[in-house]
Amino acid sequence: MLSLPVYLDNNATTPIDPAVLTAMIPFFTQHFGNAASKNHVFGWEADEAVVYAREQVAALIGAEPNEIIFTSGATESDNLALKGIVEAYTGKGNHIITLNTEHKAVLDTCKHLEKKGINVTYLPVQQDGLIDLSALEAAIQPNTILISVMYAHNEIGVIQPISTISAIAKKYGVLFFTDATQAVGKIPVDVIKDGIDVMAFNAHKMYGPKGIGALYVRRKNPRVKLIAQIDGGGHERGMRSGTLNVPAIVGFGKACALCQLTMKEVAATTSHLRNKLEEALLQMHGVTINGNRLYRLPHVCNASFRNTDGEGLLMRFNKNLAVSSGSACTSASLEPSYVLKALGLSDDLAHSSIRFSLSRFTTEAEIDFAIQQINETLQAERALRDI
Ligand SMILES: *Cc1c(COP(=O)(O)O)cnc(C)c1O
Repeated sequence: MLSLPVYLDNNATTPIDPAVLTAMIPFFTQHFGNAASKNHVFGWEADEAVVYAREQVAALIGAEPNEIIFTSGATESDNLALKGIVEAYTGKGNHIITLNTEHKAVLDTCKHLEKKGINVTYLPVQQDGLIDLSALEAAIQPNTILISVMYAHNEIGVIQPISTISAIAKKYGVLFFTDATQAVGKIPVDVIKDGIDVMAFNAHKMYGPKGIGALYVRRKNPRVKLIAQIDGGGHERGMRSGTLNVPAIVGFGKACALCQLTMKEVAATTSHLRNKLEEALLQMHGVTINGNRLYRLPHVCNASFRNTDGEGLLMRFNKNLAVSSGSACTSASLEPSYVLKALGLSDDLAHSSIRFSLSRFTTEAEIDFAIQQINETLQAERALRDI
């Protein structure tokens, strides 16, 4: 039996995998120790679990365990990366390059840095959401210290040419940071092959718990310097103080191990289901797909429904279908998506756009149901408008 509503908003957050929860529970109860307690077995057990989880997280992205800094989530990781690098490299320059379609955790941090005297270039993207590489190269100045480009997009799923971007950064001696929250665990991400210097991601977009994230900070070729934004006991190599959230870290590690194991298979099934949904949508009158369809996450589809009222559509859908009009962060406002507008969509079309994001738990029956619901909703909506 189908349980309703069908959840197709996995880019906002995924359900936790039952195996992840099982791994976490003992660390709330019998193994409750503080990982920084060096004098007794409670501390040692907690520390051992953190060491193991750190290895699991590092293994998924091809990093060394001591290059992983645990944080409270991707928002904190983005803040730590941008503010921490700017502070550490003030002697070198004060210019950052990013895209106008980045996540708010990056854009709002950049705005904050601008108030502190940092110059930020917000590059526009092409119509398909991909970066313009020659515009990137042209924007680099002698005082540029950092390029910040998201790996895969939360709203449209577009995957940027990461290794080309990192090669450009390297050529000019500029550091490369990527918010890879939507990519890690879904597609192969390798910090060495991809040439990434600093990378943010979290657990709750990959079947792990909320409130835990990581920042990868490269230790050699080059060794990246970063000034802590939270001071305290000097945890996490002095880059992020505060008692470690051991149960969440254990869950994050388990989630990473599961993703590594199942990624290929999950990508194949979700892309099959996503394509089935997308083909059905394209059969419906007035539907277009946003973002590059080739360089895209396997489980994401962002569609515009021409001549419909987006909010009305969403309200009708959401009785049985949990989908969103864009990112969870901005969908509380009635403003159309700044990302879709950056792709050149009109306010109207951006307003009538919906993101569908699937997970390893999405079934074919759910997709069939979604297609039927969307069809019926569109027909009802248009019948109303024709009166
Ligand atoms: C969800 C998301 C974030 C925020 O992550 P939190 O762990 O919820 O703070 C940042 N960047 C991207 C690309 C995201 O999708």
